[in-house]
Amino acid sequence: MKELARQARTESRIVGLVPTMGALHAGHLSLVERAKRECSPVIASIFVNPKQFGPNEDFSKYPRALDSDTKMLEQAGVDSVFVPEPTEIYPNGFSTYVQVEGLSDKLEGRSRPGHFRGVTTVVMKLLQIVQPNFAYFGRKDAQQSRIITQMARDLNLDTEIVVCPPVRESDGLALSSRNVYLNADERRAATVLYRALGAARGELAAGVRDALQLQSVLQRTLGAERHARVDYAEIVDAESFEPVVRVSKPSYIVLAVFIGKTRLIDNLYIELKSLDSEELVFYF
Ligand code: AMP
Repeated sequence: MKELARQARTESRIVGLVPTMGALHAGHLSLVERAKRECSPVIASIFVNPKQFGPNEDFSKYPRALDSDTKMLEQAGVDSVFVPEPTEIYPNGFSTYVQVEGLSDKLEGRSRPGHFRGVTTVVMKLLQIVQPNFAYFGRKDAQQSRIITQMARDLNLDTEIVVCPPVRESDGLALSSRNVYLNADERRAATVLYRALGAARGELAAGVRDALQLQSVLQRTLGAERHARVDYAEIVDAESFEPVVRVSKPSYIVLAVFIGKTRLIDNLYIELKSLDSEELVFYF
């Protein structure tokens, strides 16, 4: 992989990388499409990273679909697919980790201790192996994208991190490889994340800025769904991921909700229409 990417760089080509854990869906493919518009060659990686799963999480049963993934990527026009073995990425004696302090401890990091340390370590390794000009990530994982952008800045990486909007099913459920865990009832219930975000957006559009008031709308919608158990539902600053009291600058409403045994996350990104305006713009 290093040799192939090095060759492309010597030819002054613009290298794009799309890191994934496989079990690909249209969300992943949207990152590939964006990369294709901006880069050639486009390299996709598939690696279910053991270091970002907690001991009681779903590493062993995480969906794997290498054959169909490779076909999908080929059809999407990816130039190379990088599928390293765990022992190649983490050989015996592996002992160096990358950790973005502060940001990695909140929300997802609090619920999944060590998760982001695993993510930043593997992403840093992939970025070192490929040394792409651009690497593509989904805003579906808002905190992850924020942390990776911070890592690239802090470590002076030559890669520009590009964050792309989430792709959703027609009923609003954000595509996720974990959606295959949902049974029919749970699949219906899973739209509650999108419905809760929509309810909060309604309040914001009507002029509500108070975070507690928004949180009660979220809790009311989520609480009405019997299959749902809320892990967190918060309104946070888009830079620091610290809770806000009032929505007055770029923010996220971030949700993590168990639907049955499946933990789903989603978010709504909120921006001010202009610097001197109170009007907001919403991005699902
Ligand atoms: P994963 O395979 O889940 O690790 O995801 C690989 C990349 O795809 C990450 O940057 C994710 O944020 C992104 N991604 C996952 N789901 C979606 C989605 N529904 N829309 C857009 N990007 C996504």
